[in-house]
Amino acid sequence: MKRDYYEVLGVERDADLQQIKKAYRKLAREHHPDVNSSDPQCEEKFKEATEAYEVLCDTQKRTVYDTYGHDGLKRGAGGPGDFGFGGFTDFSDIFENLFTSFGGGGFGGSPFGGSGRGPSGPARGDDLAVEVELTLEEAAFGVEKEITFRAQGVCSACEGAGTTDPASVKPCGECGGLGRVRTIRRTMLGQFVQTGLCPTCSGRGQVIESPCPECQGGGRVFMERVVTVNIPAGIDGGQRIRVSGRGGAGERGARAGDLYVRVRVEPHPVFRRREDDILYQVDLTMVQAALGTTLTIPTLDGDQDVEFAAGIQPGEVKTLRGRGVTHLNGHGRGDQEILVNVLIPRDLEEEHRRLLQEFDECCGPEQYEHRPEGVLHRLRNLFGG
Ligand SMILES: [Zn+2]
Ligand SMILES: [Zn+2]
Repeated sequence: MKRDYYEVLGVERDADLQQIKKAYRKLAREHHPDVNSSDPQCEEKFKEATEAYEVLCDTQKRTVYDTYGHDGLKRGAGGPGDFGFGGFTDFSDIFENLFTSFGGGGFGGSPFGGSGRGPSGPARGDDLAVEVELTLEEAAFGVEKEITFRAQGVCSACEGAGTTDPASVKPCGECGGLGRVRTIRRTMLGQFVQTGLCPTCSGRGQVIESPCPECQGGGRVFMERVVTVNIPAGIDGGQRIRVSGRGGAGERGARAGDLYVRVRVEPHPVFRRREDDILYQVDLTMVQAALGTTLTIPTLDGDQDVEFAAGIQPGEVKTLRGRGVTHLNGHGRGDQEILVNVLIPRDLEEEHRRLLQEFDECCGPEQYEHRPEGVLHRLRNLFGG
């Protein structure tokens, strides 16, 4: 049984043309076989939606359908003219929008090219993605990186022109320089008028009679490219930097694509990063913690002497203000947080045991301060858990 056309498109019976177009565009985007080839039913759904759209966007057919249903259209009954699917329906405005919303480029060969546009001219270069690995210090302070990758670059033989003889560039004979040709396609749903790319000039509107032998007229060839990228201070792993115009070269001098540099940050041997703060753990011996001490602590800016007061407890945190990562897109820096760990001696010899026992005998509970906020509390503050 055939489904109701309004139901297929999911519109009300009094929907206007704009609503019908909108609904169809949405369905076509979901079910177009070029887009969604993984679902075997999508071709059927696409056909069903296309058929519904073709009827409902045509005032005459829609009147017949509203009055007589599917049968009315089948018999062509009740109205003048031909209500089979022999008429011309221009889908180009639908598909132009559909495919430009997908980014265009990937569908360059689609028969559903837009109509009424001029020649597309030489193609823009591809956008490229590359990865760069940084140390934590490089991410914290920014760095200039040379990135090497293989991609299309400007042909050196013709300097990107596609030919060394400018006089050999002529308007395309097949499309008269328009870049597009109209074709009529017969399908089970009827005939469609389609405006497609000219097969001779691929939509360029021009042909080159004596193309450059290095690039076959494209003006670009695959090569090893080296691009210097300024990595801003404060960047973090997983973030991307867009370098405008440093992607694949465009065809015959057209705009180059963009280069997207994705950042990875190597794990650091002693530092962890939490947003723009640097976390570091220091180990104090039991005696250092009890008597207090000054230790040399590594920071992103080099070693720094840090004082630990007598009686410092495991889990306490000392903050070195402004020793963290530079804030991205802003001023100032995060902090370095030093987490105190206290080492308890093991494998004691007889002499050690005796001294500790002696110490314990003269040391009362007043020397040990109980703090209600213990290590767990401090760790939670530090790690934000
Ligand atoms: Zn060339
Ligand atoms: Zn042409």
